[in-house]
Amino acid sequence: MATPISTVMSPARYVQGKDAITRVGEFVAPIGKRPLLVADDVVWGIVEDAVRTSFDAAGLPVERVGFGRFATPQAIDDLTAKIRETDSDVVVGLGGGSAIDAAKASGHLAAIRWVSVPTAASTDAPTSALAVVYSEEGEFIEYRFFPHNPDLVLIDTKLVANAPVQFLVAGIGDALATWVEARAAKRANADTMAGGLQTETGVALAELSWRLLHENALQAIASVEAKVVTPALEKVVEANTLLSGLGFESGGLAAAHAIHNGLTAAPQAHGLAHGQKVNVGTIAQLVLEGAPADEIEDFVVFTTKVGLPNTLTEIGLTVDDRDVLQAVAEAATVESETIHNMPFPVTAEAVVDALVAIEGISRSIRAAHGLPEPELYRAH
Ligand SMILES: [Zn+2]
Repeated sequence: MATPISTVMSPARYVQGKDAITRVGEFVAPIGKRPLLVADDVVWGIVEDAVRTSFDAAGLPVERVGFGRFATPQAIDDLTAKIRETDSDVVVGLGGGSAIDAAKASGHLAAIRWVSVPTAASTDAPTSALAVVYSEEGEFIEYRFFPHNPDLVLIDTKLVANAPVQFLVAGIGDALATWVEARAAKRANADTMAGGLQTETGVALAELSWRLLHENALQAIASVEAKVVTPALEKVVEANTLLSGLGFESGGLAAAHAIHNGLTAAPQAHGLAHGQKVNVGTIAQLVLEGAPADEIEDFVVFTTKVGLPNTLTEIGLTVDDRDVLQAVAEAATVESETIHNMPFPVTAEAVVDALVAIEGISRSIRAAHGLPEPELYRAH
């Protein structure tokens, strides 16, 4: 058996700020001379002018390829072929988590370097050395791990301010899970996604992310609604993207993300963002671990104000959907899942019970605080 080690992984450089996209060429140039940009048509319409101007100034050619909806095995293989065909030496994923994950996975297969340029703060995937691979229908297939993180993560907070507010809200849901999961992994002395034990650093970054979100999330949401960049928005973007990214990768995942992965198998929840489903996973984890009542109350109140789902109803399910909940729980507890980083054994039955329990718990807390009742989500 190998000697246990503690480890931290991180991107080589992180760049954040208003109009940061106008300097993307300057930061990509030291990494590669023949970049391949991966962006869907909507994202490309938003960033093309700034990227062209910046790449021209840096002496970089502009070669762009489109992208579909999910980082599927086929999308990754197609991109890998495109990298080889164009003889690119760095692949730049622009847009949401899936375009970025596909860029990472194809960059790894083609043995070139990769860069993440998220245009919203909707997940913590961009900083990590892993990709989440989905089916065409958006069902979780697998995590793919790479030996290193992106050489650059660049995020323009003005683009974040101009993106739909639900992207930021989803990113807050993804990032709130990070401390809850790292804390559980710490209690279990579990390995992290970085392939070793936790460091104090990984845990502290996860906790800082949690604190920044509680202090700034509501202001940051108001900022995006007004399409302006404020210090509160800058802090939440850093929490959602960098701190949560480092925190989950080097702090450890546990039940919340495993339950999220299980929920991707429920057709009723299709169309919801990663962070929305993760938030249901987080409240379920708190129930599963028997967290103190005041902690659960704070979490439900806060996430309701933020606009995140914390009931089954809001992800299209009811307590009577036992077969679906059983399938979700079985997927969440397969042997390879991070739910086994919890400090106690977790069965599918316990996950079903926790998911059923959150409906009544969240409803009664929301009612006691005069917060709105959950509305049923309907998948398209
Ligand atoms: Zn996540």
